Amino acid sequence: MTDRYAIIGHPVAHSKSPEIHAWFAKETGQNMVYERLLAPLDDFSGTVDRFRAGGGRGANVTLPFKLEAFAYASELTLRARQAGAVNTLKFEGGTVVGDNTDGIGLYRDILDNLHIPLKGARILVLGAGGAARGVIGPLLDGDPAQIAIANRTPARAEEIARQFAHAGTVRAIALADLAAFQFDIVINATSASIGNGLPALPPSCVRPGALAYEMMYGKGETPFMQFATREGARSIDGLGMLIEQAAEAFLLWRGLRPTTSSLLHKMRGA
Ligand code: NDP
Repeated sequence: MTDRYAIIGHPVAHSKSPEIHAWFAKETGQNMVYERLLAPLDDFSGTVDRFRAGGGRGANVTLPFKLEAFAYASELTLRARQAGAVNTLKFEGGTVVGDNTDGIGLYRDILDNLHIPLKGARILVLGAGGAARGVIGPLLDGDPAQIAIANRTPARAEEIARQFAHAGTVRAIALADLAAFQFDIVINATSASIGNGLPALPPSCVRPGALAYEMMYGKGETPFMQFATREGARSIDGLGMLIEQAAEAFLLWRGLRPTTSSLLHKMRGA
């Protein structure tokens, strides 16, 4: 029987994951199918149960189910525990492994695709939701000089900073206080761009020549990207992160790491 995988979310029609995994499967010669699965908002676990019963071997999980996927897993990887959220499930008999590949996806996109060093960098992460929490650990692995977290609701940024304080120089800074700092890499991990919004960010905190990384993808030049470009930064969206997190999920499922550069090139061109 052909191995089945899926992206589970609500909504899920917009997802580019089936296209990405079809490319990976072809490139690595894997006999598998990857489909979209729309789960009812009140029945994530039932949807996963039925998918497993029907031969599902693994799934990616997107909004709004990453916390439910965390609870569904019977075993968690370290990075899933650090993130407090799961975006990848692997089904092995009765065991459900929960992983979080978002952070390593961002790490690889910055280092391998954009060729921007993390070592010694002053990094600002905007936002304190699931995506922000998931990227702090992998970013710290790159040995930056510091990571600042700023969020509309400051207490959430402070909580993440406390969680990672033992692992490196991570601190929460109020958005209003950012004018006193300059950063080499500014990552927009808020969902403000979905509504064409922009976090209240003082222009001076973006160093000219900095990398401005918009985690959202597929919406063209967001207000954050336009703002950062005006300040002399290099702006990029999260398509590379999406492809890299998918490659890491594929590795977990199939034991093979697909190459990503030609796919990224093709999808950017499109
Ligand atoms: P969450 O809902 O968990 O968190 C949203 C965050 O955005 C919170 O910190 C919230 O602040 C903040 N926020 C929302 N609206 C505004 C606003 N108008 N102004 C300022 N801050 C705001 O979302 P996620 O963390 O899961 O996702 C964040 C973004 O990252 C999304 O755009 C998502 O698409 C993207 N993403 C991209 C991935 C990729 O592979 N490229 C992977 C994962 C996520 P508060 O705490 O005050 O509510």
